[in-house]
Amino acid sequence: DSSVSPFSYRDIIQEGDLALVWISRDNIKPIIVDANHMFNTRYGSFSHKSMIGKPYGSQIAIRTKGQNRFSFIHVMQPSPELWTLSLPHRTQIVYTPDSSYIMQRLNCNPCSTVIEAGTGSGSFSHAFARTVGHLYSYEFHSVRYEQALKEFKDHGLPNVTLTHRDVCSDGFTIKRNDPTSYLFQDDAAQATINANAVFLDLPAPWDAVPLLDQVIARDQKVGVCCFSPCIEQVDKTIEALEKCGWTEIQMVEIQGKQWESRRQMVRTLDDALERLRDVRRRKEEGIERRKQMYDAVLKDDEADGEKSERPQPPKTKFNPFGKGTRVREGDVNYQWKQVTKVEPEIKSHTSFLTFAFKIMDKSRIC
Ligand code: SAM
Repeated sequence: DSSVSPFSYRDIIQEGDLALVWISRDNIKPIIVDANHMFNTRYGSFSHKSMIGKPYGSQIAIRTKGQNRFSFIHVMQPSPELWTLSLPHRTQIVYTPDSSYIMQRLNCNPCSTVIEAGTGSGSFSHAFARTVGHLYSYEFHSVRYEQALKEFKDHGLPNVTLTHRDVCSDGFTIKRNDPTSYLFQDDAAQATINANAVFLDLPAPWDAVPLLDQVIARDQKVGVCCFSPCIEQVDKTIEALEKCGWTEIQMVEIQGKQWESRRQMVRTLDDALERLRDVRRRKEEGIERRKQMYDAVLKDDEADGEKSERPQPPKTKFNPFGKGTRVREGDVNYQWKQVTKVEPEIKSHTSFLTFAFKIMDKSRIC
């Protein structure tokens, strides 16, 4: 059924589905399942046919040519998070650590009406589309607008309205005859938007901020988040927000790092010292052994024939750490302690997030 969104839940992989092939953590590729196609990777080719009928999340394995080994992929159902990791980049995008935090701060829920500019690659649009009631997204680059229009239609996102617009000069109001996917159902000259959350990922958000009053809800607390990579942009944005009556202004930076938790072998100082002594002892024994071996070889030469046996090195005498052998983490024969390691690199910083809030009509009507 083509009217069903590829992002809506299903169990079984079917012909025509948009599926995401997980090759590795940072290599996920979207495919449209087609029984006549192969999915090629450097590890081998996987037929789409072998995926059809299997449950989403299945592992598909093939035997690597000429080797007695297997290569495998996993076929995943699209979700906004996986789409963000696999989508074709047309611009810089917003990643899940930022988008999830922003939606939470803007109190996004199924009753929210959200404005987003610009659409870019539609990464955040997919996350908004799953969570909010309606998303009004704006993009001024005509090719990107057309690509996003097609993509949102293919992905069956019925709660997204996309408009081709320079929001910094022309604002957010959607009128009849504007290039937009908005469906005018009555005689209204313009769309009623009443947004209660706004997300601006633009190079000059300060130009768009004064134009928001025309489209935000008047009777609610409205939140805005501006996504800017430079602190100078943050400065200019805050100036514009203050001038336009936005309050509770706060700038936040999301720094995502991985924390690795694992067990480390406990090594006492005495054990370490004894092990070093053992190494030294064995080195001395080795020198002695080699000397004996040369003497024996010389003797054999003199005796002309009879070979004396080569002396075997004695086995390691003291090795409390299992060095040289494969010790499984947590092996009960050793003592372990739980440790965490923080990744030195920050993985998810892309921009500064400036939040602000506004209530247009502060008077209460009783
Ligand atoms: N948030 C998007 C995502 O997650 O995929 C990425 C947005 S991208 C960084 C910024 C987009 O804003 C670009 O596609 C650009 O063409 C668009 N843009 C820049 N200035 C604009 C303006 N004045 N009006 C509308 N769109 C604009």
